[in-house]
Amino acid sequence: MGTEAGARLECKVCWYVYDPAVGDPVWQIAPGTAFADLPPHWTCPNCATEQSGFLRLGDD
Ligand SMILES: [Zn+2]
Repeated sequence: MGTEAGARLECKVCWYVYDPAVGDPVWQIAPGTAFADLPPHWTCPNCATEQSGFLRLGDD
């Protein structure tokens, strides 16, 4: 719990949340894929914001 690999990140533009447990059907990202393991060209499936525009959801 709370490991980097399982971290969820939120798009700061549209608030879409990337959850590694779910993956991303839009980009055909398999469940279990950590945010850090997403392909470099992956962007928000909702608004196309780059990965640098995502903020980690804290578990503290
Ligand atoms: Zn977005």
